[in-house]
Amino acid sequence: MNVFSHPEFDNHEHLSFFCDPETGLKAIVAIHNTSRGPALGGCRMFPYASDEEALRDALRLSRGMTYKSALANLDLGGGKSVIIGDPRKQKSEALMEAMGKHLEGLCGQYIAAEDSGTSVADLKVMGRHTKHVAGIVERTGFDGQPSSGDPSPATAYGTFIGLKAAIKHKLGRENLAGLKVAIQGIGNVGFRLARHLKEAGAELWVYDIHHENMQRAVDELGAHAASAEDILFLPVDVVAPCAMGAVLNDDSIPRLKATVIAGAANNLLQRPDHDQALKDRGILYAPDFAINAGGIIDVFYERTGASPEEVRAHVEGIGLTLAEIFKRSDSSGIPTGAIANTLAEERFRKHSGVAEASRERFAGPAFPNKNKYLAGDNHV
Ligand code: NAD
Repeated sequence: MNVFSHPEFDNHEHLSFFCDPETGLKAIVAIHNTSRGPALGGCRMFPYASDEEALRDALRLSRGMTYKSALANLDLGGGKSVIIGDPRKQKSEALMEAMGKHLEGLCGQYIAAEDSGTSVADLKVMGRHTKHVAGIVERTGFDGQPSSGDPSPATAYGTFIGLKAAIKHKLGRENLAGLKVAIQGIGNVGFRLARHLKEAGAELWVYDIHHENMQRAVDELGAHAASAEDILFLPVDVVAPCAMGAVLNDDSIPRLKATVIAGAANNLLQRPDHDQALKDRGILYAPDFAINAGGIIDVFYERTGASPEEVRAHVEGIGLTLAEIFKRSDSSGIPTGAIANTLAEERFRKHSGVAEASRERFAGPAFPNKNKYLAGDNHV
């Protein structure tokens, strides 16, 4: 298995491979870049078919977090962890505790949050052995409502704000009354996005592989039920993919009728060149890692402390970031995804000075056991 020459390696700062035979834990932590601060990213548990597949996922997702946090102007780096195993069959408290112990050994360079296959409850179990877990504190959320730490409400709100920025840029309108929007995936984010849009007067079409999720949007929000085949290709103003990645591809792009794509799902473009393909068709694409940053913004403030108003204002900054991306794309002719990458790189490459301060503020001292080690512990 290649590591340094892996196609997704992209100068990762740190990779850890954890194994705990007693609990069956096999995990990888990938830390892509900490120039803005400690690396924060989800801990995913998935039955990867091979170690290579797990490594690839960890590297790809970790890099994505660097870009997402930098673009959101957070003093955070990018990282991700993956646990190899089926969460329905192999998850146990002992395994999560073992993961927590291993994370503690990274001394706050990486902070884990919930991801697919893990829950807030799992993070709390890890938290018995480390403080380097996030998204677990009950508090008043950015919207003034009680929050369990679940980032979905902030992600949905940020996506709504980003969608409005895209509509303003592409269609020159600020009022969403009568705007036609198709949403693929009516889960934690999709349903909340649908509710924001409904309250703003939009007309909705929805599809979810789980019929009850779709039906809830039909019953509670008056949405129209669509089919799996149609949802991306309806004659609407906006398509909002909120289920899975890679839905913008060779097959789908030529068939899109909407002129705006603004959804929360990660890695929407199947290949980087699909960015250009959307631009060539005159479709405005709100880059996924720009528009779906509300959750990471919310988690950041859970640990650093801020008023709900401050968190809300930061989430609303997603609209300004997108407006800048759209403007630069128009003036340069470069597609929006590439512009977003460049903007993120500008933000994480020139901010290396903030890292240490952010680490102190966010995660505690970088090496809390330094004195112990210096005192002569035999470590390698
Ligand atoms: P979720 O699991 O709650 O919802 C996803 C929904 O999509 C589910 O209802 C599922 O049934 C449905 N779905 C799955 N495959 C589908 C398909 N082929 N067609 C239609 N529906 C399908 O997840 P979520 O938290 O709402 O996240 C949605 C997306 O946004 C994911 O891609 C996630 O990675 C991304 N995202 C979420 C957050 C967050 O804060 N939750 C933050 C950033 C990005």
